[in-house]
Amino acid sequence: NQQILLDNRPQGEATASNFKLVATDTPPLQDGQVLVRHHYLSLDPYMRGRMNDSKSYAASQPLGEVMIGGTVGEVVESRHPKYAVGDKVVGMGGWQEYSVVDGNTPGLLRKVDTTHVPLSHYLGAVGMPGVTAWYGLVKIIDPKPGQTMVVSAATGAVGSAFAALAKARGCRVVGIAGGPEKCRYATEELGFDACIDHREHPDLKSMARALKEACPDGIDGFFENVGGHILDAVLLRANAFARIALCGMIAGYDGQPLPLQNPALILINRVKIEGFIVSEHMEVWPEALKELGTLVATGKLRPRESVAQGLAAAPEAFLGMLKGKNFGKQLVKLV
Ligand code: NDP
Repeated sequence: NQQILLDNRPQGEATASNFKLVATDTPPLQDGQVLVRHHYLSLDPYMRGRMNDSKSYAASQPLGEVMIGGTVGEVVESRHPKYAVGDKVVGMGGWQEYSVVDGNTPGLLRKVDTTHVPLSHYLGAVGMPGVTAWYGLVKIIDPKPGQTMVVSAATGAVGSAFAALAKARGCRVVGIAGGPEKCRYATEELGFDACIDHREHPDLKSMARALKEACPDGIDGFFENVGGHILDAVLLRANAFARIALCGMIAGYDGQPLPLQNPALILINRVKIEGFIVSEHMEVWPEALKELGTLVATGKLRPRESVAQGLAAAPEAFLGMLKGKNFGKQLVKLV
């Protein structure tokens, strides 16, 4: 069983030398346990926060342990009556090829149906990132038909799900993404009404101008994944009583400061800003997953994936994602 451990903590930017690849044997199963062979490992921005030992939205990861991470796979051995060999399951198996899971602990493992939804999507659109988009849109932004929604990191796992959910509610949806290819994909494939390339608008003034053009009626809801000048520009274009779901600030995860230029705009525009952590709202997951599963099964949400091959490729793929090299949900294929 190949595993990737957190070997040492990053000083500034994370690098491949923070990780260590090792091989171990999987222990024999005890009663109530199942052995899962992982087909895909999910790489997510929150993992960067866990590599530090300072306060973050995700708890710090101990050194020398397998990196935490969502996985989908197949039961290959079972000593639990609820799980049979061949069952497809989603869990938190970590950066390794196999995991031994206690089938009696609630929430560790969930069986999934791959008839209409491909297994890998349970780590993306029909998994944690999809529910994240759903929670921010439905519970924080609470959109009305005809209103204008903006999302940053628009073509990623969370952003692409956000677009489909907001379109289903009759909104105008504007994305912000890195590069012409991602922007083209956003409008042609993901259903965005417009998409702004943040690389072409690297400063506040220019981004605010682009937002004015793409959002002629102002901004009613913003789903923030990035932080920095994008948030400042949105505040300049926000309508009165706009809502902002503060989901992520990936531009600062490697330690870059993200000062807010003009916080008075929150007052002037009477903006509601609310941060949230999706795992603290497990009560919405069934409803959210049902809607997301239907959107995928009916072809209304066709999420794209960036797939790295083999466990050893995980560190580079993860570091690349933090710099926007992924195009869609970042996964590692293990089988
Ligand atoms: P993505 O698939 O969107 O990948 C990350 C993307 O972030 C990159 O592709 C890149 O897109 C963008 N990005 C990275 N650095 C920068 C930068 N400096 N400036 C602008 N854009 C940047 O990841 P996810 O969909 O998995 O996650 C999106 C966000 O949601 C993250 O901030 C994450 O932390 C947050 N999140 C929060 C949760 C919560 O519970 N609060 C749960 C899950 C996710 P591009 O090339 O388009 O710029």
